[in-house]
Amino acid sequence: MKAFLARRSGMHGPAVALCACLCLCAPAAGGGERASDPAAYKAAAESLRVSGLRSEGAFELLRMITSVGPRLTGSAQAAAAVELARQMMDDMGMANVRMEPVTVGRWDRGAPEEARIVASGLRGTIPIAVCALGGSIGTPEMGLSAPAVEVKSFEELDRLGDRVKGKIVFYNRPMDRSLADPFAAYGGAADQRVRGAAEAARLGAVAVLVRSLTLRVDDHPHTGFITYRADVPEIPAAALSTAGADLLDGLLRREPAVTVFLRMNCRRLGPAPSANVMGEIPGSDRPGEIILVGGHLDSWDLATGAHDDGAGCAASLEALRLIRESGLRPKRTIRAVFFMDEEFGGTGGRFYADAPGRKGEHHLAAIESDRGGFLPLGVAAGGADGALLGKIRGWMPLLEPLGLTTLSRGGGGVDIAPLVGRGTVPVSILLNAQTYFDVHHSALDVLSSVNPRELELLAVSVATLAYLLAQEGP
Ligand SMILES: [Zn+2]
Repeated sequence: MKAFLARRSGMHGPAVALCACLCLCAPAAGGGERASDPAAYKAAAESLRVSGLRSEGAFELLRMITSVGPRLTGSAQAAAAVELARQMMDDMGMANVRMEPVTVGRWDRGAPEEARIVASGLRGTIPIAVCALGGSIGTPEMGLSAPAVEVKSFEELDRLGDRVKGKIVFYNRPMDRSLADPFAAYGGAADQRVRGAAEAARLGAVAVLVRSLTLRVDDHPHTGFITYRADVPEIPAAALSTAGADLLDGLLRREPAVTVFLRMNCRRLGPAPSANVMGEIPGSDRPGEIILVGGHLDSWDLATGAHDDGAGCAASLEALRLIRESGLRPKRTIRAVFFMDEEFGGTGGRFYADAPGRKGEHHLAAIESDRGGFLPLGVAAGGADGALLGKIRGWMPLLEPLGLTTLSRGGGGVDIAPLVGRGTVPVSILLNAQTYFDVHHSALDVLSSVNPRELELLAVSVATLAYLLAQEGP
């Protein structure tokens, strides 16, 4: 890894960016208002693709990021990751490398959770795999036991009304397998996790168990953040593995009452200082106009967050590396941002948009990568009038060699949402992310679940789009 950075940093410095492609960079390097040059763009895109795909640069960056361990917001590892990210950007010769303060909340899982089905008439006592959901309060120290009551929706919960009192509400609506888009399937089931505890507490439930948000049936619980409501008591909330959910569901169909024991040792702690980390390639003509590329540096605590979202950070920084090493001189600034605390609701994104450093900057477009490090298939872009879509359609011959063939309206992400709210155009690389929710927010989201070549294709796609946006504007 050191060798990797040393090799890279040796290439850098202001006088550097010459490399093998003077012929390409000449038109761009000249800057000014020179009309776009299709031949130069073709050469630039080819250079990015060839130097990217001959390496596994993004995977090397991901290996470094994940080497810190899980990077839960406010944790010591998250602080170490911030420092490491700054160092990586510095060593790679990025300009204006800096950390901008973010105040984050802290939550700690404590000792591993325990849960079991107690004295079932059919199966006796059986352990089930659970994990506390992010932000949940813990159970009493000795745990709690209560009969479980299963629901598939908030409507069903409301119909039960008083019968929920004193019970553990078990939300068991699976992600919809009939949807081809896994994010749509996730979005259709996530309300149970996010709002389930508050809705159940309103009716007097003592805890909730939520079926993990994955299409796989296995013993790995998947965490994620929850929200409480100020007007109802806070109750413990845990994710149950899909295998555990199927087991509990089967028992509840055959036995009138099934008791569950649950012990969770998590707690919320006070706020802590943290930071967004960023570095850039300054624009040669219009440095105050920014094309942002980025992901979030924090992860859940159950694994090293390789897909979510080490991959987004690695692909973004690799994109800048490829642009530099191809000797390209973007007219507008291309900035990589590693946001802190996406997982508890996008704290870093809000701090970034409001930071004093934004004065005088104009964020034209933002490419947030937070859907794993998977094979790119296309591009989605937003904006008020769809003008950028038309522009990108003209760029498709440059993107198709990367496998990017679809173009649709959309794009965005949690971290760039505050910028988008102020007029920045969101751009997203669409990915084949069918396996994302197999690992998402679980102990399975580790480096070995990421394919280096797919991640590199993502990085090259980000680089190509960011460069074109920097030259042509959105
Ligand atoms: Zn994420």
